[in-house]
Amino acid sequence: MTDLRAFVRVAIDQETCIGCGACIEACPHNALEFDDNVKARLVWDLCRDDFSCIEVCPVDCIYRVNEASQELLSTEGWYRLSPDAGEDVLEALEDWREKYGVKAGPV
Ligand code: SF4
Ligand code: SF4
Repeated sequence: MTDLRAFVRVAIDQETCIGCGACIEACPHNALEFDDNVKARLVWDLCRDDFSCIEVCPVDCIYRVNEASQELLSTEGWYRLSPDAGEDVLEALEDWREKYGVKAGPV
């Protein structure tokens, strides 16, 4: 079984995102989507750290979580969980939030 604690993941500055969709197309794990405002959003438990999304963003608004600002990590809206996320996912999420100082919760 995949260890969800192993991944750093990415944080998205949705203020800067222009909704081009390049990251969504580039992600091999379907871990990115548009939210209702056509801003990119991460599906937390699907992300697998290949970071191809960072390279294709034309406005450089995707960051490795370990390189993102505390301000961004405190901003709500840039990630969610899969609808069927279970207890193991929630526990891994809490560990990840603590490890990286992610104050924002999932939407
Ligand atoms: S780091 Fe990889 S898996 Fe995660 S959202 Fe970006 S492209 Fe997708
Ligand atoms: S590539 Fe960048 S600007 Fe385009 S949708 Fe993704 S985060 Fe937004």
